[in-house]
Amino acid sequence: MSTRHFARRGLLVILSSPSGAGKSTISRLLLDREKDLSLSISVTTRARRPSEVHGVHYHFVAMREFEKMRERGELLEWAEVHGNCYGTPRDPVETSLSEGRDVLFDIDWQGAEQIAAAMPEDVVSIFVLPPSGPELHSRLVRRAEDDEATILRRLANAREELGHYSDYDYVIVNDELQTALDGVTAILHAERLRRRRLVGVDGFVEGIVSAL
Ligand code: 5GP
Repeated sequence: MSTRHFARRGLLVILSSPSGAGKSTISRLLLDREKDLSLSISVTTRARRPSEVHGVHYHFVAMREFEKMRERGELLEWAEVHGNCYGTPRDPVETSLSEGRDVLFDIDWQGAEQIAAAMPEDVVSIFVLPPSGPELHSRLVRRAEDDEATILRRLANAREELGHYSDYDYVIVNDELQTALDGVTAILHAERLRRRRLVGVDGFVEGIVSAL
């Protein structure tokens, strides 16, 4: 995307949270609001939930295919989460960045760490916290699409994911959805204005000075 006055490097916005903290809802609403932001659609070996659409929520692939993508270097990062493999296809991210578009990632702490190591200049990472332990617990139990063993595993994983919040640039508590969404939007808008991401700003300022 270019602003009216100069171009800008695309941003990689990473949203992580324990399952059930509302990160997917925040992502969806943010994407509706922000036309220059596109979602990175991950590949996963996890079974598709009834409400999910192949190519929209994930690219659902067999383990064999996931391994091939990994071996061919087609994944920007990958991790095992809840016993399944997840990865970020590299090509769409590079295309978006080269077009100056921002990319949103709904990935776990392992993926965030890998992307931040690969592209530290372009990453903004946000950790979404639930308002409390009991609230997170009841949100996970209310999620009807998962069986009990899955819920228990997610609770255990929530503890692990929460242990990594301090590696993130920003923390948002999702108590009231609209407030959390406004917080993420404010971060995005501020990060877009970081001077080091603006291309051609020196020439722009020189032009102003020389016209004085
Ligand atoms: P779910 O199975 O509930 O959709 O996702 C489980 C976890 O995997 C979530 O924390 C989600 O953010 C994470 N995840 C989804 N896609 C990716 C990915 O491509 N890479 C990594 N590292 N984590 C992912």
